[in-house]
Amino acid sequence: MASKVLDDFLKQNLEDLKSRGLYNVIDPLESPNGPIIKIAGKELINLSSNNYLGLATDERLKEAAHQAIEKFGVGAGAVRTINGTLEIHIELEKKLAEFKHTEAAIAYQSGFNCNMAAISAVMDKNDAILSDELNHASIIDGCRLSGAKIIRFKHSDMDDLRAKAKEATESGQYNKVMVITDGVFSMDGDIAKLPEIVEIAEEFGLITYVDDAHGSGVLGKGAGTVKHFGLSDKIDFQIGTLSKAIGVVGGYVAGKKELIDWLKVRSRPFLFSTSLTPGDVAASIKAIEILINSTELNNRLWENGNYLKKKLKSLGFDIGNSETPITPVIIGDEVKTQEFSKKLYEAGVYAKSIVFPTVPRGTGRIRNMPTAAHSKEMLDQALTIYEKIGKEMGILS
Ligand SMILES: *Cc1c(COP(=O)(O)O)cnc(C)c1O
Repeated sequence: MASKVLDDFLKQNLEDLKSRGLYNVIDPLESPNGPIIKIAGKELINLSSNNYLGLATDERLKEAAHQAIEKFGVGAGAVRTINGTLEIHIELEKKLAEFKHTEAAIAYQSGFNCNMAAISAVMDKNDAILSDELNHASIIDGCRLSGAKIIRFKHSDMDDLRAKAKEATESGQYNKVMVITDGVFSMDGDIAKLPEIVEIAEEFGLITYVDDAHGSGVLGKGAGTVKHFGLSDKIDFQIGTLSKAIGVVGGYVAGKKELIDWLKVRSRPFLFSTSLTPGDVAASIKAIEILINSTELNNRLWENGNYLKKKLKSLGFDIGNSETPITPVIIGDEVKTQEFSKKLYEAGVYAKSIVFPTVPRGTGRIRNMPTAAHSKEMLDQALTIYEKIGKEMGILS
C-alpha cells in the first residue's frame, strides 16, 4: 500500500509549485538536438542546447559509435574495476590527457558524477573548500558529500577569496584547503579569473579544482579555460564533460598521474557504477580527435556567437557581459521574461527563460546558445523574430 505521508507530501508540494508557476513542463524532441528541432510537430530554431560544436549529430561520431557497438556491444557489462574496462576506455583516457595537456585522465559516466567522485576522494571533514557562490549544482553536491567545511566566496571576487583563504589557512583548523570554481559560468557566460585564483592558491597552498564543463570545446581553441590562460600545469583538478561540446555523454578528470591513480582506487562512482557504453566511448574519442586536429568547428562557434551578440546588441537588447558564445538577453521582470520566451516559441525560436531562483531576482533572461551548426540564415531568422517581439512587448523602442 502506498504511504499516506508520501502521498500528502507530493500532492502538497506539486500543487504549491504549480500555483507559483514554477512547475517545469518538459517538451520532448521529435528530432535530434541539432540547430533545428521539432517539438509537437513544430520546427523551431534551437537556441537552447549545449551541443556547442554540433557534434551530437556529426556523421563521423555516429559512424564511430556504430563500429564500436558492432565490436563491443551496447553495454560495458561491469564497473571499471571488475571487468568493465574495455581497451577503448583506456584509449579515451589517453586522448583526454593529450587534449587537456595533463599527465593522465580518468573517465566517468557524467560530468555530474565527476564532482560526486573527485571531491570526496580527496577532501574530508577535517578539510575546507572555498567555493564560488555561483558554482554548478553538482559542485555544491560534491562538496557536501565530502563532509568538508564549505566556505562560499562572492562570485569571482578575488579580494573575498584572498581574505577567506587567509583566514582558513591561518586558523590551523583544516588539514587541506581547496579552491573550486566553474571555468565558465553558464548563466552569464563569464570566465573564472584563473590567473588570480592560481596566484592566491600558490600564496596560501590551496588545492585547485576547475570544472570546465562549459569551457571545453569553447575556450583555448577548444582545449578549455585552463589552456586559454596557459595554466595547464598549475591546476590540480581539471573536470570536463563529454556531454556538452563533445556532443555525447560522460565526464572526466584530468591531472597528474598520482591523482588519477588515486581516483581509480578511491572514487566511488568509478568503483560502484557501470562504465560508459562502447558507443559513447568511441564517439567521444572521435570528437576529441576532431578537436585536437582542427579548430574549424571552434572558429565557427565563435563566429556565430559573435554575430548573434553583435546583432542583438545593435537591436538594443541588454546582453549582459558574456565572454563566451553564451548569450543572455536580459529582460529583468520574471513574468515578462517567461512571456518573451513563450512568444519566441510561438514564432519559431526555442530559447529558454531563466529566472529566480536560478539567477538573482529582477535579472530574468532568455539564454541563447548559438552553436557551430547554425547557419547565418537561421540566426538572421531568429534575430528578425527577436526584433518583432521586442517591439511588440515594448522592450525595444
Ligand atoms: C553541465 C555541467 C555539469 C554536468 O555535466 P553532465 O555531463 O551533463 O553530467 C557539471 N558541471 C558543470 C559546471 C556543468 O555546467
